[in-house]
Amino acid sequence: MERLKGIGVSSGLVVGPALVAIQRTQVIRFPVAPERVARELTALERARARSREQLQQIRDRIAQRKGKELAAIFDAQLLLLDDPLLVGRAAAIIAGERVNAEWAVQRALEEVAEVFSDIADPYLHERKGDLQDVAGRLRMNMRGEKGGARDLFRDLDAPCVLVADELAPSVVAQLDWDLIRGFATDAGSRTYHTAILARSLGVAAVVGLRDVSGRIPAGASVLIDGDSGEVVIDPDPALRLEVEARARRARVQQPRPAAAAGPVRTRDGVAIALHANIERSDDAAAALGSGAEGIGLYRSEFLFGGGPPDMAGEDEQYEEYRRTVARMAPRPVTIRTFDVDERQLARPLVDSGLEARWFPQAERAGHAGLRGIRFGLAHPVIFKTQLRALLRAAAHGSLRILFPFVSSVQEVRAARALVAEARAELAARGVACPTPAIGVMIEVPSAAFTASMLAREADFFTIGTNDLIQYTLAVDRTDERVSDRYEPLHPAVLRLIRQVRRGAVRRGIPVSVCGEMASDPVLLPLLVGCGLIEFSMTPGALPMARRVVQETSAAEMARIAARVLTLGTVDEIEQYLLGSFGRQNVYDEAR
Ligand code: PEP
Ligand code: MG
Repeated sequence: MERLKGIGVSSGLVVGPALVAIQRTQVIRFPVAPERVARELTALERARARSREQLQQIRDRIAQRKGKELAAIFDAQLLLLDDPLLVGRAAAIIAGERVNAEWAVQRALEEVAEVFSDIADPYLHERKGDLQDVAGRLRMNMRGEKGGARDLFRDLDAPCVLVADELAPSVVAQLDWDLIRGFATDAGSRTYHTAILARSLGVAAVVGLRDVSGRIPAGASVLIDGDSGEVVIDPDPALRLEVEARARRARVQQPRPAAAAGPVRTRDGVAIALHANIERSDDAAAALGSGAEGIGLYRSEFLFGGGPPDMAGEDEQYEEYRRTVARMAPRPVTIRTFDVDERQLARPLVDSGLEARWFPQAERAGHAGLRGIRFGLAHPVIFKTQLRALLRAAAHGSLRILFPFVSSVQEVRAARALVAEARAELAARGVACPTPAIGVMIEVPSAAFTASMLAREADFFTIGTNDLIQYTLAVDRTDERVSDRYEPLHPAVLRLIRQVRRGAVRRGIPVSVCGEMASDPVLLPLLVGCGLIEFSMTPGALPMARRVVQETSAAEMARIAARVLTLGTVDEIEQYLLGSFGRQNVYDEAR
């Protein structure tokens, strides 16, 4: 039995096996029940088979286009797939420690990488890069090309307590709090949005424990006391039984947000459109199930599963877009053209000297290179292939095209010219297609500053707050020395958002917000107060967003936002906002 002391931010006394989520490394470790070990082993084997197929495809293409020598890189990777040090070791970790496959692959990789690091031979160092690449591919294929915390948390089938390094409010809003009894995190403070949310949900929480996620092994029994701020590892059986009995008596079912559909209004009657962010056509069902009125952001780059974009032909893309649009019809679907960074793609497209990388969310987020619309303009053949597929799919429903990472008017004009060329190419083939609306993502500060000019070139705006915040504040979120400065409530960010909205309104074009900020239940009312009425977020966050909107008074929030925009520091803004919420009853702690 070991006791740790943190800050109790949400009252309650709970006990359960620990689900340990270490999100900074983007790999989550969790225990699996004995009967599910086989499932994890199958997932590992499937990922290996899928990775083999992909690598063979890539190797053949490279051999064809660039010669056998370069293709040999992938022969080496294919051999690594069969090396017992990686997949074999991962399988042993799954079976021996009863943990999830993704975590096991990461552990196996770390073990081998350590061995390689001790060897000076440059050839073997090169192999280390390949190993990382292969492990990245395996993990990606295990996630079904998407994933992250939310998807894994969905797999839960027994009650537990969550132990994490950090928990974003938008993640908290989506978890199943019937199964997760409480949480303890390394980071956090009493006023952090996640803490406020925990109180609103009635979930016991202790934060600010500094290294709790590293000290508690997955599956260990953990007691969380949200009143005293204490976390007990391996509480003695008598204490555990007492807490369990007390919890059973006291557990009050929290009202779950209704998965209602259709338009939602604020308390004072302002209609707010809630759309979903998705990554594949298969996600459309989840979007509809969560009551989405449309797709506000389809991240098309997830189509490749880590391969280069020229691997997806026009017909394959058309089929995928058509499926999405048809499933959502008559609701609008906004498909963003590829937001990939050339450096993060597999080697085939780029200089063979560059390191091959994949693009999970955290990595994509940190790059300001040849990505988004810049990538499209630099690779017009790939870009026009996508545009032709999109134009064809537009015939099957309501499709809008969105350009990512725009930083100038010039880029929008050049991209529109390529849309015209793509249309002409289709016409030459006798294919007529509708004219979809063309929008611009506002996620680079230069685009935000010139919003009123860009609004003349675009049919709609979508504000990508994830990138906008990090580039405005010059904070790389993947660099933990500065990641705590990533602050959505920074006055510069709020002023930019206001400026973008004004630019759009002046030119009469619609503007939505599709970054994480929209799914934060504390920030959403503020955005409503700034006059924004359309939001898009991951489907799991939509029920909570509905509830927040229904409890928000747009007029009251407009007054609050006007005052917030005069304040100079994040602390002042946060304090003012939290005080106002108390008055507004949005997060009434007594409820
Ligand atoms: C954003 O930057 O806010 C955004 C939605 O785009 P992504 O997260 O895909 O970079
Ligand atoms: Mg972005």
